[in-house]
Amino acid sequence: MEPIDLQEKCATCPGDLCCTYFTQEIDTPRSKLDFNNLLWAIAHERTKLFKDEGRWYLLVENRCTHLRADGGCGIYDSRPQACRDYQADYCERDARAEDGFELFFPDYDSLLAYCKQRFRTWGR
Ligand code: SF4
Ligand code: SF4
Repeated sequence: MEPIDLQEKCATCPGDLCCTYFTQEIDTPRSKLDFNNLLWAIAHERTKLFKDEGRWYLLVENRCTHLRADGGCGIYDSRPQACRDYQADYCERDARAEDGFELFFPDYDSLLAYCKQRFRTWGR
């Protein structure tokens, strides 16, 4: 198989996908109140929720302030560790991350439907 030219791959990436959001791991939600609080969070624009390998995360779609108009990183030499750890050889350009999640809630309504299914007494 041909080796991947990662510099070329990122330089031609439409939208520089991996620099346009961040995720934050959260405590595993268990109670109705936990999920009610997550409904509040996900009611905000560009905020999503997912579960991956048993762990829960908020995902906020918000462009990094260091992402330059030309797609380069404005602080490349001192970029955070999360950016350094990100694997470009198989990334969101190759497959949508959400396709591999255990659970994915892109909006309020999808999470509300899950809450109603999970808790028979939801809303009471
Ligand atoms: S790592 Fe992937 S998603 Fe990020 S800029 Fe490179 S090709 Fe695009
Ligand atoms: S610091 Fe640089 S590499 Fe990290 S998300 Fe921002 S633009 Fe991308």
